[in-house]
Amino acid sequence: MTTNNIPLAWARDWLQQPKQQYINGQWVDGNSDDWVVSNPANGEELCRFAMADTDQVEQTAVIANQNHEAGTWSKMSRTERANALRQIADLIRNNVEKLALLETLPNGKLFAESMADDIPTCADIFDYYAGWTDKFYGETSPVDDGFLNYTLKEPVGVCGLIAPWNFPLYQASLKIAPALAMGNTVIIKPSEYTPLTMIYLMELIDSELDLPAGVLNMLLTDGVNANQLTISNNVHKISFTGSTGVGRKIVQNSGASNLKAATLELGGKSPCIFFEDTPDLDGAVDRAFTVMFSHKGEKCSEPTRFLIHDSIYDTVVEKLVEKAEAIKCGDPLTEGVDQGPQCNKVQFDKIMEYIEIGKTEAKLVAGGYADIEGDNAKGYYIRPTIFSDVPADARIAQEEIFGPVLSCIRFHSTEEAVQIANSTEYGLAAGLYTADVSRAHKVAEQLDAGMLFINRYGCYGLAAPFGGFKQSGWGKEMAIHSLASYTKTKGVWVYYGD
Ligand code: NAD
Repeated sequence: MTTNNIPLAWARDWLQQPKQQYINGQWVDGNSDDWVVSNPANGEELCRFAMADTDQVEQTAVIANQNHEAGTWSKMSRTERANALRQIADLIRNNVEKLALLETLPNGKLFAESMADDIPTCADIFDYYAGWTDKFYGETSPVDDGFLNYTLKEPVGVCGLIAPWNFPLYQASLKIAPALAMGNTVIIKPSEYTPLTMIYLMELIDSELDLPAGVLNMLLTDGVNANQLTISNNVHKISFTGSTGVGRKIVQNSGASNLKAATLELGGKSPCIFFEDTPDLDGAVDRAFTVMFSHKGEKCSEPTRFLIHDSIYDTVVEKLVEKAEAIKCGDPLTEGVDQGPQCNKVQFDKIMEYIEIGKTEAKLVAGGYADIEGDNAKGYYIRPTIFSDVPADARIAQEEIFGPVLSCIRFHSTEEAVQIANSTEYGLAAGLYTADVSRAHKVAEQLDAGMLFINRYGCYGLAAPFGGFKQSGWGKEMAIHSLASYTKTKGVWVYYGD
């Protein structure tokens, strides 16, 4: 194993130090049961913390609301708010190796991926939204003579930000940065499986920045306790990224409490359509395969259904199988490894169950088993798995698996491809490859998905909206869309005479 540049000794020491809640600028013990954070590469305990219980969650919401009402953060100058966000970006950049390691250890994603993409992008997110603190304009409305109507963009209040385990610090940053930029107070709740980077970033912020107390709070707990955030009348907005089931519960809880607003980024079962005139077929398959199987298939917008035209179907499947068989599963800290372990045992078991279901529904052409020989014996490793000739209505073609399992589906006409693509309850993303510009635009219009990728699956940028349709979620994140979701628009009328 190559451990150059990987600060393992530092991490061993850091993991042994107590892990606490960060509430109102203070480190305090959680007052509920212990939660153990584990390493999915070997099942070993990394650290443990006492979770916040529902009372502690509610107390935190009360404090955050007091700070909101006092204007602790919202009344600070926009320049000061922007500077604080830029300083957070610098803290992330100056600690990339440590954060990348803490991201990889409980998640199982490749250290190289955390270093190259995940952590540097978090710094970019804080810089990006620092620039927006004084640029999100209101408007004057074209009303009758004698009147002026203008709009004010006001912070929503206390934002409960609930993140998943697949891109832990990235998902948290995508919520914290715009919420703070627009003057809100924040309670961030990282996933209990992967809280390490958020804890370490809070330590850096606490020791090196001068943020007012109670503006940025962190709760370490599980979903049962975090549910209180969604029913609390002291929370005014929930931004949630996670499963569709929990998203549905958040909507119910909002309706049963103060009708708090919710942005929901949920599950997906995204199609990628390869038409018979796919340009650069090798390149297209290569790209789509990489997006599908990188991060061990634990990505919401990955193309889990390849819809392939009959005339190129066998060629494409053959290429995919070759690529899948070449993947090396192993310790995510080791150079040369392509795929780390699934994030946790629950996820591992769920994926293996779907693989067994798939074997009864379609033809298994690659993988289909846990890769747990030799050094991998104690980890949650699963071979990249491909099913061929999958019926469009099979469970493995309809339900989110959230792992390295791909369904290949054959089609014969454009109409059939669109019908299959739109046939799930999800609508997060969709991709299509064709040399025919006219067909590309027509099909893009017909696909019921929040993000469309034409001739390159999986393009992302902070200035572009991210988010799905149907049961993949409500609202968009990134770009100006996040600013809108963390502000209230107030319309002001002025009568100045006829
Ligand atoms: P999850 O829904 O189990 O948990 C997500 C977060 O919600 C965790 O922090 C969890 O502790 C918390 N939570 C659980 N129940 C809660 C409740 N009742 N009230 C408040 N908080 C609660 O999801 P997960 O397993 O962490 O993540 C995987 C899921 O996330 C997949 O379905 C995936 O598609 C989805 N996801 C979506 C996107 C997107 O942008 N659309 C991005 C990443 C992941």
